[in-house]
Amino acid sequence: MTAPMRTCLGCRKKANQEELIRIVVSKNQVVPDFAQTFPGRGAYLHQQSECIKNAIDRRLFTRALRVLVTIDTSHLDALLTTKQY
Ligand SMILES: [Zn+2]
Repeated sequence: MTAPMRTCLGCRKKANQEELIRIVVSKNQVVPDFAQTFPGRGAYLHQQSECIKNAIDRRLFTRALRVLVTIDTSHLDALLTTKQY
């Protein structure tokens, strides 16, 4: 069994789910769901600065995650400074 294919929100390329990080909205904040335990709608991103930045700069989360309010993406900024490839 191979993992399902997901589309990266940042670059729109399809990738194995295991290669992407799941992003969810929790309390109006965009947070990475490393354990994949959050319920509900998730978006997927490469953990690469260009994909993360693209999604943040273009506010792609709001549409992808079907939220109407402005969401805080500061948790993803933290990703940019930690585990980078
Ligand atoms: Zn990507």
